[in-house]
Order: sequence, then C-alpha cells, then structure tokens
Amino acid sequence: MNVLIYGSGQLARMMYLAGCPLGIYINAVDVVKEQVVDPVTKEPRSMTLEQAIEDADAITVEFEHIPEHLLEKAAQTGKLRPGIDAILAGADRVREKRLLDKLGVPNCPHLIIDDVQQLPNAVTQLGDKIILKASRDGYDGYGQWRIQSASDLQKVTEELAQLDLKSVPLIAEKMMQFQRELSLVGTRSENGNFEFYPLVENRHHQGQLHLTIAPAQNITDSLTEQARDAFCKIANKLGYIGVLAVEFFQVDGQLLVNEIAPRVHNSGHWSMQGADTCQFENHLRAVCNLPIGDVSTHAYSAMVNIIGAGSFSRDMLAIPGCHLHWYGKEARAKRKLGHFNLNAPSYQVLGQRLESLSRHLPEEAFPLLKPAIKELSI
Ligand code: ATP
Ligand code: MG
Repeated sequence: MNVLIYGSGQLARMMYLAGCPLGIYINAVDVVKEQVVDPVTKEPRSMTLEQAIEDADAITVEFEHIPEHLLEKAAQTGKLRPGIDAILAGADRVREKRLLDKLGVPNCPHLIIDDVQQLPNAVTQLGDKIILKASRDGYDGYGQWRIQSASDLQKVTEELAQLDLKSVPLIAEKMMQFQRELSLVGTRSENGNFEFYPLVENRHHQGQLHLTIAPAQNITDSLTEQARDAFCKIANKLGYIGVLAVEFFQVDGQLLVNEIAPRVHNSGHWSMQGADTCQFENHLRAVCNLPIGDVSTHAYSAMVNIIGAGSFSRDMLAIPGCHLHWYGKEARAKRKLGHFNLNAPSYQVLGQRLESLSRHLPEEAFPLLKPAIKELSI
C-alpha cells in the first residue's frame, strides 16, 4: 500500500519507520516547495505531486498547517484521511472553538479578537490574566502573547496593531489556573470504532512540551470518562479517521479542552516502546482501513523531548528501558531534535531511571526533569 503524507518532518519520518514492517510505502511532501521527498533523507523523489497523489491509496497529514489548495487537491480524490474539515478545525483556532462550543465540550472561556481595540474589553470580561493566540499557524507556543498586567496590555496592543487581525483573528483566552495538563490520544477507524491510549500527563516549559508521563498518575474514572466523551463527540462530528490528540487542562475534577491535533502527536511518542501498537502504526492502519492494533501498555513510560541541545554522549543507552529517537535535524535553539522514551516496571523505578538519564544531560536544556524525578521517586 502507498500512503502520501503532507509534511516532511519527524512525524512523517516516524510514520514511515512504523509503516516499513507492514509493507506500507510512504512518500512525504514538502508543502512549501510542493515537492515529493523521502521522509527520512528529505531528498526529492523523482515524481511530481500529481503522480504521488495518483499512486497513493491514502493521503494524510503530519501537521495541520497545510496550504488549503493542497488539502483541496487531496480531498477531491476521496483519499484524504482524516477529512479536510478535521484538519481545518485543528489548523484554525476560531473553527476549533466553534466546534467545541457547538458540541457543548467544556473549554476555556474565550473571545474572538479581530481589532486591538477589543483587548481592554477582553481583559474586563475574561479576567486580568489572558493569553492571546493567533488563530492560524501557531505551534509550540509560537504566535502567543500573554497579558498579566496593565503594562503588558499596552505593550501587546502596540505589537498586535501591526498585524492584520481581520484576516487572521486572535483568540483571547482566560489564563487558567490548572492543576496539570493531560492529553488523550486515540484512533477512530472507518467503521466508527475507537481505541484509546491511556490519559497521559504533559509538562510544558515556555509553551513547549518537555515531558510526558504515561499513564498519568491518579487518574479517576471520571477523568477518563470526561476525556473520552469529549474525544468521541469531536471525532464523531468530524467523521474522523486516524489518530487524533485532544489536549486538556485539569481544573479540580474537571477537564477543559485546550486544543485538538488532527494527527499523531508529541504526547503519544511514548507509545513507540510503551504500548503494544504505537500511535504511528495505528494511524497508518486506520487510514489504510486495516484493523487497529492493541493499545495495551507494557510499562510506566516517560517521554523526554530533546530541545535545542544536540551535543551529548549516547552513554544513557545503557540505562534499562531507555530508547533514543534522533530526528537527524540540525541543532537550533527551541528546536525539537529528538526524544527519549524510558520504560520502567513502576513509577518509582521510572523516577530512578529518569534520574540516571538526567546525569547524562545538560540541566539547562532539560529543566523539568528534576521536579519530576523528585515526585516519581516518592
Ligand atoms: P503545541 O502545538 O505545542 O501544542 P500550541 O502553540 O499549539 O502548542 P497551546 O497548546 O494552545 O499552543 O499552548 C501551549 C501551552 O501554553 C499549553 O500547553 C499550556 O501550557 C499553555 N497555555 C495555553 N493556553 C493556556 C491558558 N488558557 N491558560 C494557561 N496556560 C495556557
Ligand atoms: Mg498545545
């Protein structure tokens, strides 16, 4: 089978690697150059985009910010999975909020801003502390502004006055005092069946995911139920096919949806070694209409993102349960270069193994390891 992936970053690469044993052959597309490329080497392949679309049994995406005309082209063939509405709902925060509100899925109090003059009113209505997010093209905390004081309001207003908010509005959200961030990654297959990985806990630093603990600790039946209910409502409404990720804030016992990602997700990377079938394989199975693989977990897992730091030895591979996934990218500040997956038979041992891992890594690039080690080792 042939699958064409729009996007040629690490997610396409990991899908390619997961597809090999199944005999699923993958082409990736550099969507800026509109060029078909090898998902590992990124070298151009000797075929046109039209040929690759023609040859594909299924077309999917590794990220949501794809030029709309390319999505249309894929959608016209009937091979695009998930469908264009799902991808656009993930790409555009205005569409995303409308979808959540229409479905009655709890999310953060918010307002749509298409003129900087509306900012003072947003502060009055939502509270002193708000977060502004560009409705399109934001990721890893880029395209976000925080207002926490009157002087911030003035500074941010001046900065945003330069943008064309009529074409790309902002979402103003109340800054939530959440206990923790969780996400649910799952698969919906063509026949409408669901498979869910366990809820995981995600720790962010400066708007970027640094650490995932899978499964999350202290998960109640109510939290699982709320997460699955939101997931099913969203996925059913979109007629979703493939892996979907839903990010939540936990506020006391309630889950609020932060955002949805219509694709494989960084908070599902632990499943490569931590679950029977990883998210990349299950996404391919779903879009190729093959049976979805078992999602049982083997262990307690941690996923540690390698952000910006490219130079360290590989001696940590001696730690039991430690796996490195290196994406082959050039090091740059704030760039995701790879990740570690760490498995252990208990949370306590996971804490010990994270501590062993941290001894091999520069602390400044992995600031969230120390507190997690302390918590898990208790
Ligand atoms: P990514 O693509 O990495 O998921 P993103 O750029 O799409 O990130 P969000 O997920 O919306 O952006 O925000 C990034 C992080 O910023 C969140 O995971 C959370 O830690 C923080 N954040 C976002 N919205 C809020 C909010 N309303 N209140 C408090 N913190 C928030
Ligand atoms: Mg997010």
